[in-house]
Amino acid sequence: MKSRVLVVSDQEGLDLKAGVANAVAAGALLGEVTLLLIGRVCQQAIQQASELAGVSELLLTGFSDSREIPGSESLAAGIVNLMEGYSHLLMPASSFGRDILPRVAGLMDQPPVTEVVGIRDDHTFIRPLHAGNALATVQLSELPALLTIRTTAFAPASTSPTPAPIRKITLNIPQESHGLSRRLGFTPSPGERPDLNTARIVVAGGQGVAEAGSFELIEAVADGLGGAVGATRAAVDGGLAPNDWQIGQTGRIIGPDIYIGAGISGAIQHLAGIKDARCIVAINSDPTAPLHSVADVSLTMDLFEALPALMEALDRPLD
Ligand SMILES: Cc1cc2nc3c(=O)[nH]c(=O)nc-3n(C[C@H](O)[C@H](O)[C@H](O)COP(=O)(O)OP(=O)(O)OC[C@H]3O[C@@H](n4cnc5c(N)ncnc54)[C@H](O)[C@@H]3O)c2cc1C
Repeated sequence: MKSRVLVVSDQEGLDLKAGVANAVAAGALLGEVTLLLIGRVCQQAIQQASELAGVSELLLTGFSDSREIPGSESLAAGIVNLMEGYSHLLMPASSFGRDILPRVAGLMDQPPVTEVVGIRDDHTFIRPLHAGNALATVQLSELPALLTIRTTAFAPASTSPTPAPIRKITLNIPQESHGLSRRLGFTPSPGERPDLNTARIVVAGGQGVAEAGSFELIEAVADGLGGAVGATRAAVDGGLAPNDWQIGQTGRIIGPDIYIGAGISGAIQHLAGIKDARCIVAINSDPTAPLHSVADVSLTMDLFEALPALMEALDRPLD
């Protein structure tokens, strides 16, 4: 049987959400992809989605107000009702995918395979274990396969000259799943910085920044380089940085071109989040800090000297 793949993502904003093109590329390794976008989808995002190589049909649910979007239980039940004829369901391992896909798996009584980083065949998938220190090859005995995709592990789908047809659908949500939870509002976080998950440059700070009492220096360097700001759990727990800046096993998994970690020891749980970074720059005054041993560029220096000097050298001095 040829695989029929349903890729599902939430959508907001003008551009197609980060990670969707990567999940489509993963789906296209298995077969023909139908892409379902849930949310208020602007014309620009519709065009970008329909032109992704591998997408044979684009489905839209047509919610005009984010408050119309049903709660997670209802969405999961609606997706289950859409699964007829599909051999695979893929969702980016975003907070949306991590919320919805296990609910779909529970309703379908199928084991989910989460954080997939490789696809061997239509039943066999590779996923990280032990904070990314081991890779497990998981083989399902039966389909459908229900997968969350670690999007940094797959290059985004290219653009096809022939856009896929678009169809508006209404999710068939059973009466008993209605009303278990309801979305009351939706407020995008303010700020002009790139999204941490997809930023090409990430400047992250750890407990070593504590003596300054704030993340101002880290933020200034990130802004000077046009990057996103990240943090360790210690920095978040210490009140230096908000929770959604946390990188690592229990935070965000990032894959930038350049990651600069300042005042970060490099605990295994933090390293789990930066494994896909193409170039790691470590700034730590302790030469034995584990971050140095995984770094491409190592500066055994005080971060309060190193970061301003780095910006001077790049001709972008800090104010
Ligand atoms: C179940 C579990 C899950 C976890 N999940 C995460 C996670 O998702 N993400 C995460 O980050 N952590 C996570 N942790 C916590 C993790 O184990 C570490 O405690 C944490 O990452 C340490 O943060 P840190 O590097 O900022 O602090 P520290 O380990 O205290 O390191 C601070 C570093 O700053 C250096 N330093 C100090 N002053 C300066 C200076 N002036 N200039 C340069 N360097 C300086 C020091 O040499 C030191 O190496 C988790 C832990 C557990 C148990």
